[in-house]
Amino acid sequence: MKVIPARLRPLQARFAAVAREVLMPHAATVDREARWPEAGFVALADAGLMGLHVPKRLGGLEEGFSALVMATETLAQACASSALCYGMHCVGSAVIAAKATRDQEERYLALIAQGRHITTLALSEPGHGSHAYLADTELRQDGLDYRVCGIKQFVTNGSYADSYVVSTKASEPNEQGEFSCVLVDGSAAGLSWLAPWEGMGLRGNSSRGMRLDNVPVPRANRLGDEGDEVWYFFQIIAPYFLIAMAGIYNGIAQAALANALTHVRERTFSHSGESLARADMIQDKVGALWRRAQQARLLAYHAAELADANDPDALQEILASKVSAGEMAVEVATEAMALCGGTAYGENAVQARLLRDAHAAPVMSPTAALLRLWAGRLLLGIPIL
Ligand SMILES: Cc1cc2nc3c(=O)[nH]c(=O)nc-3n(C[C@H](O)[C@H](O)[C@H](O)COP(=O)(O)OP(=O)(O)OC[C@H]3O[C@@H](n4cnc5c(N)ncnc54)[C@H](O)[C@@H]3O)c2cc1C
Repeated sequence: MKVIPARLRPLQARFAAVAREVLMPHAATVDREARWPEAGFVALADAGLMGLHVPKRLGGLEEGFSALVMATETLAQACASSALCYGMHCVGSAVIAAKATRDQEERYLALIAQGRHITTLALSEPGHGSHAYLADTELRQDGLDYRVCGIKQFVTNGSYADSYVVSTKASEPNEQGEFSCVLVDGSAAGLSWLAPWEGMGLRGNSSRGMRLDNVPVPRANRLGDEGDEVWYFFQIIAPYFLIAMAGIYNGIAQAALANALTHVRERTFSHSGESLARADMIQDKVGALWRRAQQARLLAYHAAELADANDPDALQEILASKVSAGEMAVEVATEAMALCGGTAYGENAVQARLLRDAHAAPVMSPTAALLRLWAGRLLLGIPIL
């Protein structure tokens, strides 16, 4: 069964070509050296794929959630670190595009579409951790402009992006809320980077802490209105982020399962002369893992389709799709490694990398517990927060 909508298959072929020709050959080095995937970003830019969520009138592809889940899934099959970096760029782009001024369209979105600008999210803070919609980072009035002070943690694409979507306390809390979003340029004075993060998996994403020390931010770089960060979080950031993550975990599982299928077909025993694939228990296991992976994929594409159609039930499906993909990826990557035997457990084995990558799902916020809680509240008609 073809899960990817027919309309998106030509675009998927472009992502698949970059994944096959550039991401896959670099994946082991990106992982081993925890190296940010520069070659992958150059290739995605050369292929005209950086402006996935940028309007066509600005040179972008003007695609939505279905294209995002397809893109991150396709890239993650080759290199999950690259898929995360690209996914965070896409989420950042969608946040900018949501309420972009004419000036922001010209200075950011047009350059993103041309493959000349990388953006990303800097929300999470040491003080609030998983509750990434909260911020202690201060936004102070400085004449007509702002100054930003605070510490962010786990900023993917950290130090490589050209701009950062930063959440702050509002300089003037109002009826819209207590938090705001601003765009901080990577070259801004007072912005510095904390020690690189040495992850167990998704190692090549350059996810690190960011110090904002009285950083000047032009008023023209405020995203939307003062105080509307929670609107951004639940209307834009969470849906795009969760769909991107669902695609990544589905892609990790697809790759782990494909490797396991190859292994059990090729592994033959001298005592029987038969391949592992001939064993009933292996056939049963393969069928069970495929079903599990397929369920999560179908839910993610379904949720993305609802979101593209602005369906009022989309959010709970999106929340569920990240829970399903994350839990499924850990299970499938674990079982797929077992199917591949002892060599797959080796330090440099691809299956071992996929398993480590999959294990980011239980720790990256919003984690399954929070997502289930939010979905439950939506279903019960209780406000999420
Ligand atoms: C590889 C990677 C990349 C990342 N990239 C980015 C990025 O680009 N931008 C960004 O802003 N952030 C990013 N993050 C940060 C992420 O979004 C989370 O903020 C962070 O992983 C969780 O924060 P913490 O480690 O302080 O966990 P904690 O907040 O300490 O949470 C620990 C555990 O407690 C659970 N928990 C917390 N509160 C509750 C509660 N009330 N009820 C039940 N359970 C609860 C959590 O679900 C989690 O399982 C990234 C993280 C990782 C690992």
